[in-house]
Amino acid sequence: MVEHVICYRAPTTVVDVEAIANWLSERLSVPVTVRDRFLDVHRNDDTDLAERFAEARVPSPYERETGNTMLGTIRYEERALEHPERSGGVLYDGVQVQRALNAALPADERGLETAHVAFLDRAIGTWGDHDGRWHKRVNVLGQPALISVPGLYEAPAKPEEYYKEQQRHALLSGDTPPREVLENQVEGEFLIEDDPRSTDALRGYALQASHYLAHGKAFCDEEGCCLFNAHYHEELLEAQLRDPLFCADHEQLYG
Ligand SMILES: [Zn+2]
Repeated sequence: MVEHVICYRAPTTVVDVEAIANWLSERLSVPVTVRDRFLDVHRNDDTDLAERFAEARVPSPYERETGNTMLGTIRYEERALEHPERSGGVLYDGVQVQRALNAALPADERGLETAHVAFLDRAIGTWGDHDGRWHKRVNVLGQPALISVPGLYEAPAKPEEYYKEQQRHALLSGDTPPREVLENQVEGEFLIEDDPRSTDALRGYALQASHYLAHGKAFCDEEGCCLFNAHYHEELLEAQLRDPLFCADHEQLYG
């Protein structure tokens, strides 16, 4: 039974975590509070987060093995913890990061009556046994739930035309076009980095976090419900931003 939801800010991103917490508290019958960045609030000497992040690094999209604990990498991770605005471009194993952050929680807050929802400015992924590669994720549910803001832009597949345009540019100029160029030239709906719709698009992902702890079920099968696990940007926008926000069952629960 979830008795308290705690959301953690991601100050280097455009996401307004207070607004998400307000939205959640209108739908849940338990208090929802907001704290500063998880990696600041729960960083202490006992849990060597820099080393744990270094171990969770994904060096290649097609190799299961993670981790690089060379001193230089750990130093990089220390700097990234101190100065989050400088981190970026690295993919981490979401399950390993989740384990590390769980260990960083105070013992009396680790139980399932407190749902921790950590908004992160890191890209996280999970390994796909079925296809032998890493997949970026918007969230990894559990304790704490991780919500990756870069994942919102990078994890779901973009419209087909986006990839065609990328290919066309590569053929013409031999390299990859800057992302802004692609985003301005491609028709079709998708979220771009720092998209003004980011906060609204992540509300449902935060609700999935407490839903999972309360009901043990991760996602809703109904496309269009904000508990749906979208694999494409178009699906994500449909599920998170367009009415109705919930399927009939979840409307009863949260509407
Ligand atoms: Zn639903």
